[in-house]
Amino acid sequence: MAERITIIGSGPAGWTAAIYAARANLEPVVYEGAFNEDNRLKGTLPLGQLAQTTEVENFPGFPSGDMTGYLDDSIDEKIRKYMAPNSKHGVSGPELMELMRQQAKNFGTRVVTDDIVDLDLANGSPFKIKSLGGDEFESHAIIIATGASANYLGLESEERFKNMGVSACAVCDGAMPRYRDNALVVVGGGDSAMEEGTFLTKYASKVYIVHRRAEFRASKIMAERALANPKIEVKWNSNIDEVLGDDTNGVTGVRIRSTIDEGQTEELAVSGYFAAIGHTPNTSFLKGQLEMNDKGYLIWPVSHRTNTSVDGVFAAGDVADDHYKQAVTAAGTGCASALDAERWLAARGLV
Ligand code: NAP
Repeated sequence: MAERITIIGSGPAGWTAAIYAARANLEPVVYEGAFNEDNRLKGTLPLGQLAQTTEVENFPGFPSGDMTGYLDDSIDEKIRKYMAPNSKHGVSGPELMELMRQQAKNFGTRVVTDDIVDLDLANGSPFKIKSLGGDEFESHAIIIATGASANYLGLESEERFKNMGVSACAVCDGAMPRYRDNALVVVGGGDSAMEEGTFLTKYASKVYIVHRRAEFRASKIMAERALANPKIEVKWNSNIDEVLGDDTNGVTGVRIRSTIDEGQTEELAVSGYFAAIGHTPNTSFLKGQLEMNDKGYLIWPVSHRTNTSVDGVFAAGDVADDHYKQAVTAAGTGCASALDAERWLAARGLV
């Protein structure tokens, strides 16, 4: 028998959709993604980008305070025991995501830790779906909430040293021995670069932020925090020319090039390189099946509705949002997608 509603993705959009769908008795199943090396390198592990971040200060409802008791009480103890003990802050990204996952499960959401790799959307609902682990099933409605993942510059030398000093996730990798008490470099000028740079100063002796312009794109508060940090030095008007290193030591430095005087280069001795230059939506498995914009984000053809170009397929969160890209907006469209899907199913007598 076909599923009524399948949610693909496990960030704020996916879990919010699941909470609403479960509370509407739609018995949703969430494919939260697979825990494997490929997803780790691509930045597409379960629980999405927020699970790779530190404090979340702008998700309403979590002012600063000691969350320990609340987390102990709310989260399944099997998961809680692997989570970091809490300190006095609002909520961390991984905590927020575990709370959302737990909330969805509490209302009966089934969770499968696997990737969806193939969908047949051309032949209409119920849609045929295949997972990486070999599940094959049908679903009447689908919500795509696969989010976006971090970009790299695309240099050959970046690729060569992935896992040996090149990363796009300071929070995942920053505490590794190779980064401790050494100088590191972060490239980018947005909130991610500020956050990663500031976070890395916990471990590093020094953090260079290399930015191609003379002004950050980041929000004022995050830029000011980074600029006030004595361990951070900004290299303005500079691009990364090459990641330097060898097969034994991995990354040993970077060569940067001025964007004003292209002949001017400088080498920085660093043991780690962190890319923080924006994101690409996780839609490659949908190519040719759903309408996308030129950057690969899914299109919502009707304003204020989460329907995609295929009847019965809905999109929520960053996968369809190249503008706001916030946890709270993703949760908002996650809610909307579940309501849209519920109405769509009801119109077909499927609820
Ligand atoms: P972003 O705001 O798009 O910034 C990307 C940065 O990378 C820009 O400074 C851009 O430079 C630079 N860049 C892009 N391509 C580049 C290239 N090929 N070479 C060199 N530099 C390049 O991305 P983000 O920082 O990942 O933030 C994405 C969204 O998430 C934003 O809405 C942000 O507010 C949000 N976010 C929020 C938090 C938080 O509130 N805690 C934390 C992280 C992210 P230019 O400025 O020159 O274009």
